[in-house]
Amino acid sequence: MNRFEYLEVTTLEMAGKLAAEKGAAVRAGGVDVQDLLKEHLIEPASVVSIRNVPNLQEIKAGENISIGPRVTLAQLAADRAVASKARAIAISAGEAASPQIRNQATCAGNLLQRPRCWYFRNEELLCARKGGPECLAHDGENQYHAIFGNKNCAIVHPSNLAPALIAFDATVKTVKVGGARREISVAALFVTPETDIHKEHVLEPGEMMESIEVPAAALAGGAKSAFAVVREKQTYDWPLLCAAVKLTMDGKNIKDARIVLGAVCPVPLRRENAEKLLIGKSLDESAARVAATAAFDGATPLAQNGYKVPMGIAMLMRAILEAGGLS
Ligand SMILES: Cc1cc2nc3c(=O)[nH]c(=O)nc-3n(C[C@H](O)[C@H](O)[C@H](O)COP(=O)(O)OP(=O)(O)OC[C@H]3O[C@@H](n4cnc5c(N)ncnc54)[C@H](O)[C@@H]3O)c2cc1C
Repeated sequence: MNRFEYLEVTTLEMAGKLAAEKGAAVRAGGVDVQDLLKEHLIEPASVVSIRNVPNLQEIKAGENISIGPRVTLAQLAADRAVASKARAIAISAGEAASPQIRNQATCAGNLLQRPRCWYFRNEELLCARKGGPECLAHDGENQYHAIFGNKNCAIVHPSNLAPALIAFDATVKTVKVGGARREISVAALFVTPETDIHKEHVLEPGEMMESIEVPAAALAGGAKSAFAVVREKQTYDWPLLCAAVKLTMDGKNIKDARIVLGAVCPVPLRRENAEKLLIGKSLDESAARVAATAAFDGATPLAQNGYKVPMGIAMLMRAILEAGGLS
């Protein structure tokens, strides 16, 4: 880690300005930023902490849910209103990492963390994402890598929270340097390698996340949800696969469905083809299996990660049944 100046600010705009104009690294919980500094993947002259910016750590739950960017994963997982209205979101936070990390890691940081691909993280190696000629996972150790969208770069997006937020049509509110504000759907927050191989999200330098919003419409109508994850070990690990499922039921019939996969692609992956197979059907094991199988149609596994397809189908089938109250 190089030497850097440590700064604290009291507004998000001040942090954004330092990031945009001086190249400062913005630190929320610091879990990922600290690793990036240690790995020499970033070498900023200054690091700016937003921990003293007021009111960033609140969850407001009424008809909609508004999540402050510095709400920790532990706080989100323990929030009763979130658990009752948007169970998949609470579970996705509670299933990430370890208790210590969840107490430090923030929701904004979770969405904006950089990939965990070992070729990307190794400071000695120049992979395509760091400006090299090729994705080193293609002919390398690729057991944890992407099975969709992996042609130019095979990272998987590491966030648990992102698939769950996308299942609930969540948005993020941001403020840019100069004060302009915008609202972006979480589904549109992420960037495929084909669009830009060097970044994972669309935020501009210095653009700060002010809140994450789960709209009232996504919470209405008694929607039920589930979040499933498979890890190599039970704690302290990133997912091999995860999925968020949200179902709006009319008795045993499915009125609406959302299926979003994580850890399979460089971006969280909504599977509308599988959703369509559920809508209008009565939920049972056979319907869940057909939809789960369709969700993995078109996968292009690499040499060592073909196991993700059958494992993912089994995991997703369980999540669909759980969301529909059948497990
Ligand atoms: C051992 C281990 C296991 C893990 N397992 C999982 C897992 O299973 N699932 C999972 O999802 N994650 C996992 N993680 C990742 C962890 O959840 C994230 O690193 C963490 O959530 C990042 O949050 P942070 O607040 O520490 O972010 P920081 O490291 O502070 O920031 C990360 C990025 O977000 C930016 N940022 C933060 N806040 C804002 C804001 N308000 N506006 C604009 N930019 C902002 C920062 O500038 C930086 O670029 C794991 C991490 C470790 C170390």
